[in-house]
Amino acid sequence: RIAYVNGLYVPHAEAVVHVEDRGYQFADGVYEVCEVRGGHMVDERRHMERLVRSLNEIRIRLPMPLAALGVVLRETVRRNRVRNGFVYLQVTRGVARRDHYFPDPETPPSIVVTARAADPAKGEAVAAQGIAIITVPDNRWERVDIKTVGLLPNVLAKEAARQAGAREAWFVDRDGNVTEGGSTNAWIVTGDGKLVTRPAESGILRGITRTVIMEVAEKLQLRVEERAFTVKEALGAREAFVTSATNFATPVVRIDGQSIGDGKPGPVARALRENFHKVAEIAR
Ligand code: PMP
Repeated sequence: RIAYVNGLYVPHAEAVVHVEDRGYQFADGVYEVCEVRGGHMVDERRHMERLVRSLNEIRIRLPMPLAALGVVLRETVRRNRVRNGFVYLQVTRGVARRDHYFPDPETPPSIVVTARAADPAKGEAVAAQGIAIITVPDNRWERVDIKTVGLLPNVLAKEAARQAGAREAWFVDRDGNVTEGGSTNAWIVTGDGKLVTRPAESGILRGITRTVIMEVAEKLQLRVEERAFTVKEALGAREAFVTSATNFATPVVRIDGQSIGDGKPGPVARALRENFHKVAEIAR
């Protein structure tokens, strides 16, 4: 495997950043994960737009023009011979003596790109079964709209899920409303067939997959309601599912040990998953 690190393609096993990198010292950086399908990146444009937004929000400059970044992403995919899988991109505020204040503005941001293959059949097997989730209090900071590498609450929540025999954890805010998953956006399907997901104005990352799934829903003539929903409403929902670049739409069949609907993946989540790649932008 090959990784791109600050201008060089190096063997993945030898790919390193400095101990004084601000990503390491302060989680002072942002990232993106983009699906690779048939050797092509999925929704690259939207992922790059969100990267630029995240960088602007924390005042890190784009380390190279977007066109050049596109070349690096493609080249990393190519060098790793990834047909189906994911490409990961991380940008930090660079290397500087540990001090909370921003470093000298001349300090170049650090950039790392990795790519790995993933067997689509494995994801399909998980989706066919449906996943179990748990709920945990949302103890994150307010700026979860920024795709920062500071993911400790998400790490702890997802590990708690795993310990409980589940795959994902849904964060719940102080009002009892579900915000999102540790690495996914959260959705339910109401008794009258409407899709419900939290508005992206607060409490969640605006998932690229979330946006695309809204377009898929429109194509399938399903109604989408962007509003908050409680754990109680989710437990009584007809279906539930999660979305992310790595999961597309994946049915949720159990929440905190209670079955959702008939305890099997629902038709709405399945239809959204089946149609996802017909709507997603696949750059060639
Ligand atoms: N919320 C969080 C907290 C995430 O980490 C992710 C995945 N990166 C998502 C939502 C889904 O975003 P996307 O659809 O862009 O992968």
